[in-house]
Amino acid sequence: MEVKLISHTPEPEKVVAAAARLCYSPKSGSDIMEGFSEQDVEKFLQRLVSLGHTSPFEHASFTFSIDGVSRALSHQLVRHRIGVSFSQKSQRYVKEKAFAFVIPDAIQKDDALKEKYLAIIDDLQGKYNELLELGIAPEDARYILPNAASTNLIVTMNARSLLHFFELRCCTRAQWEIRKMANLMLREVQAVAPHLFAGAGPTCVSMDLCFEGDMCCGRTKNVVKRGKGTGEQG
Ligand SMILES: Cc1cc2nc3c(=O)[nH]c(=O)nc-3n(C[C@H](O)[C@H](O)[C@H](O)COP(=O)(O)OP(=O)(O)OC[C@H]3O[C@@H](n4cnc5c(N)ncnc54)[C@H](O)[C@@H]3O)c2cc1C
Repeated sequence: MEVKLISHTPEPEKVVAAAARLCYSPKSGSDIMEGFSEQDVEKFLQRLVSLGHTSPFEHASFTFSIDGVSRALSHQLVRHRIGVSFSQKSQRYVKEKAFAFVIPDAIQKDDALKEKYLAIIDDLQGKYNELLELGIAPEDARYILPNAASTNLIVTMNARSLLHFFELRCCTRAQWEIRKMANLMLREVQAVAPHLFAGAGPTCVSMDLCFEGDMCCGRTKNVVKRGKGTGEQG
């Protein structure tokens, strides 16, 4: 898996702080941008986060190149609908004649399981190539490809959506692969916007509170008891 921040709003922290200050100022946005010191920006962002006033965070966007993740992960990723844009390698237009695939750690570390897994992948690859040779279009042959098949995406999210995404997907309740990706994304954005993402992560980190009820991993004692949490099944 490779996760790289390839682009972002210039001066993301200043833009967010200026958007928030504009609400309480007679000045124009451009005047506020010009007169904003780094210390002011930092103080403003801390206040916004502590108040939970995160709508100004929507003015900063971050674009990631994400390579070598499974289609199982991308199914989970695209469930995030708000303030997010996706572009994904097409299995209709790109033939998968030697498809790359992800091996879960639990299988990777067991030689016998890994051998079995690789044999299944090899079999599917052979069957896929056979369908292409029979004249089946890639868009139809792909129906037999596994969730393990790896994919590449470009994903853009605004900072408010990212905070929500990190709450859900950096949590130990999220599946290992998307959690790993979310943590890599978090590291990337913290490098360029440390104050925007200072408290980002699962709610046990950001507010010492867990909403997973009985499914809490135990990292905090402050658990909201409201049933069985998000309940990963798929
Ligand atoms: C640990 C875990 C386990 C999961 N298990 C399953 C599972 O078993 N099955 C499954 O189907 N999904 C599962 N999901 C996916 C989950 O249900 C969400 O679809 C996904 O996390 C996206 O979250 P979201 O809707 O909050 O994000 P976004 O789509 O980005 O939405 C952000 C917020 O906007 C609001 N919003 C968005 N759309 C609407 C709308 N139409 N109406 C009203 N408000 C809206 C909500 O407040 C929402 O939280 C799981 C997720 C996690 C983290």
